[in-house]
Amino acid sequence: MSIAQNLLKIKSTLPENVTLVAVSKTKPIPDLMEAYDAGQRIFGENKIQEMAEKWEAMPKDIQWHMIGHVQTNKVKFMAEFVSLIHGVDSLKLVDEINKQAKKNNRIIDCFLQIHIAEEETKFGLDEKELHEILASTAFQEMKNIRIVGLMGMATFTNNQDQIKKEFTHLKTIFDSCQNLKSENCNLKSISMGMSGDYQLAIECGSTMVRIGSSIFGGRI
Ligand SMILES: *Cc1c(COP(=O)(O)O)cnc(C)c1O
Repeated sequence: MSIAQNLLKIKSTLPENVTLVAVSKTKPIPDLMEAYDAGQRIFGENKIQEMAEKWEAMPKDIQWHMIGHVQTNKVKFMAEFVSLIHGVDSLKLVDEINKQAKKNNRIIDCFLQIHIAEEETKFGLDEKELHEILASTAFQEMKNIRIVGLMGMATFTNNQDQIKKEFTHLKTIFDSCQNLKSENCNLKSISMGMSGDYQLAIECGSTMVRIGSSIFGGRI
């Protein structure tokens, strides 16, 4: 099947309240354009440099989502155009995003990444660290960043019960934050689910799925 066919097939199975991020990392611009021409407007990348190059070359009505781990010193290279940053996992990074957004006269929407997997290597905050950031005066005074959701990645395993447990954990944390609304914090979305587990993620409450290989084919 073609990229356009893959995309339309997946989209037709998604509930109305679930947003599709087409994860286009490592893929060439003609592949992205095929998805664009089939109607896709949200693309996810995990390297800032690659995302910036694609942003410059492609139509300007695309919303670019940074889904990878972000180094503080690279925020400035995407602050002008990034539409949502999924993997925010420290107050230091929150602070830098706020600063760079201000320089560009914008408000940047972000998700806080929560560590739900068993593996030590995956990035993310635990529940206590999440609350510490949201409760900090430093964060509450920031005017150019908005925390609008949570993001998580399940353990890389075939064990469906374990993945389900981890997604459910993220949903529980999300629900427990619903009383925390403020000027720059309003958790509306949960970003969880990739090619292999997005149906399960949606069953567990995901509102944003990040799908790459099922649309664009495998990566080397
Ligand atoms: C690569 C990537 C995806 C997409 O993975 P697929 O298995 O190709 O769908 C989703 N989320 C993140 C954070 C990624 O890095």
